[in-house]
Amino acid sequence: MSLLVHDIGELITNDPGLGTRTDAAIVLDGGVVAWVGPSASAPAADEALDAEGAAVLPGFVDSHAHLVFAGDRSAEFAARMAGAPYTGGGIRTTVAATRAASDAELRARTARLVREALAQGTTTVEIKSGYGLTVADEVRSLRIAGEFTAETTFLGAHVVPADVDADAYTALVCGEMMAAAAPHARWVDVFCETGAFDATRTEAILRAGIAHGLGLRVHANQLGPGPGVRLAVEFGAASADHCTHLSAADVDALSTSDTVATLLPGAEFSTRSPYPDGRRLLDAGVTVALATDCNPGSSFTTSVPLCIALAVRECGLTPTEAVVAATLGGATALRRTDVGRLGVGARADLVVLDAPSHLYLAYRPGVPLVGTVVRNGEIEWKR
Ligand SMILES: [Zn+2]
Repeated sequence: MSLLVHDIGELITNDPGLGTRTDAAIVLDGGVVAWVGPSASAPAADEALDAEGAAVLPGFVDSHAHLVFAGDRSAEFAARMAGAPYTGGGIRTTVAATRAASDAELRARTARLVREALAQGTTTVEIKSGYGLTVADEVRSLRIAGEFTAETTFLGAHVVPADVDADAYTALVCGEMMAAAAPHARWVDVFCETGAFDATRTEAILRAGIAHGLGLRVHANQLGPGPGVRLAVEFGAASADHCTHLSAADVDALSTSDTVATLLPGAEFSTRSPYPDGRRLLDAGVTVALATDCNPGSSFTTSVPLCIALAVRECGLTPTEAVVAATLGGATALRRTDVGRLGVGARADLVVLDAPSHLYLAYRPGVPLVGTVVRNGEIEWKR
């Protein structure tokens, strides 16, 4: 089944040869982009979708999300807004609720969040474990994540469980837990932060991940300065995520590496914290991605459009840079070349906005502007 999307007012392709086109059309066939060109000379297809002059862009690539969990932390959020600090310790609350939940409940909750993300334009989402923290519970989270995405990430090193010695737990993560998790994961991630995993433990976990054939990601420099970004670059991680508190050496290291800096401004919004300086990173030549960090404690949003608006308002990105970061940037952070762009041969994942330009995503914050979502060449969601 082929699909022609015609009368596109503005087509963002993120393809160096195609650029941004006006009065354009795109043909999707066999789950990939088959043709891009002027709407007036578009070939016929089995089905047609009239964009009526609206903007079309690649589906969002949310490269950082924690979607497998149970429980509720709205009271913790309210307490924080009343002045309590964010320390990351609330993760243990979600761990207890997640362990107590049935497979069916976890699956249903994950499905609902993935659907919610799709309705806001997300066609590729990375999903981390990290609320199980036992061998069986981490494997269970990864199995469920794998039902929704190929981008599964083992985050046994999210927090040291209550009443467990940090060195003993790190040994478990590197040993038995990693061995059990690796068949169900593409990536390994570590929360490298004071109060979570220090440099020595982070290195051990990244080394174990490499030994099990996993790609590397690091939660780095979120709550304060630290070794996370330096280690991510040294180990060749695909992404260093948060990047809120960076030294000049951190920025230099990122700028001469293949490690993407992934900004998660939903976390700063929801913890009332200072935002990362995205402008500084882009000016230094760092590749920047933008993701939701959707999780029940510090950023309970699946909305990439919200993150785009925040990145523009608070992190110094232009509206165009923010949209590129949420599409091509996310794909680069996942080392994917088939998504985040709409060149011929790319995956047929796109969003038709209820707006004439991608600029509206930041210009009209909080307004639902995603009109139609096409994934794998099929219309999967329509307002
Ligand atoms: Zn996270």
